[in-house]
Amino acid sequence: MKTEYYLKRLVEEFHSTTVATLGQDGHPQTRVIDMMLWDEKGVYFLTAKGKAFYDQLVEQAFVAVSATKDKAAISLRGKVRSIGSEKLDEIFEKNPYMQKIYPGDTRAVLEVFWFYEGQGEYFDISDPSHVVREAFVVGDTALAASGYFVGQGCIGCKLCYSVCPQKCIDISVRPVKIDQSHCLHCGRCAEICPKQVIIKR
Ligand code: SF4
Ligand code: SF4
Repeated sequence: MKTEYYLKRLVEEFHSTTVATLGQDGHPQTRVIDMMLWDEKGVYFLTAKGKAFYDQLVEQAFVAVSATKDKAAISLRGKVRSIGSEKLDEIFEKNPYMQKIYPGDTRAVLEVFWFYEGQGEYFDISDPSHVVREAFVVGDTALAASGYFVGQGCIGCKLCYSVCPQKCIDISVRPVKIDQSHCLHCGRCAEICPKQVIIKR
């Protein structure tokens, strides 16, 4: 359910995203791409077959996507594939401005790409002293845990808590526990831990 919630927000609220691929020189390239459509299987966007971006999508079949609005951000990283002209008319119906960019039958030069499998993250700093982070998956894949985690050997000294900018470490338990939904991934806790039991994944 949360995946659908974030994909819907990405398309209907954020809409314009930055999409990264690798250029021919092997370095990252980004461009702004509107996310046109979403469903429970992923999100859909367009590009023209003449663009270098099109060649990169076909060849690499993988993108990183980021969008931000009102101090909140949604990112995706994962697999894409062309579905040809499937959903093209639906996309033009839901995004009428496209009819002015590609009038009449000129839309035939466009191809629809489907982001169908990968990891996503929502990150919200609209309340700066209480950031919110949530991971989600798109398609048939497992969620890869990332961030900082406390392992065995914690002595409960609370030094990590003392330097944590978000105070998102529960020090009432041992080992202490990092609340992943409010962690900045800054790494200060891991740096100061005298037992070096805080691991970055
Ligand atoms: S990584 Fe930073 S924000 Fe997260 S628990 Fe450690 S000190 Fe706190
Ligand atoms: S600094 Fe390390 S040993 Fe001390 S409470 Fe935090 S995790 Fe445990």
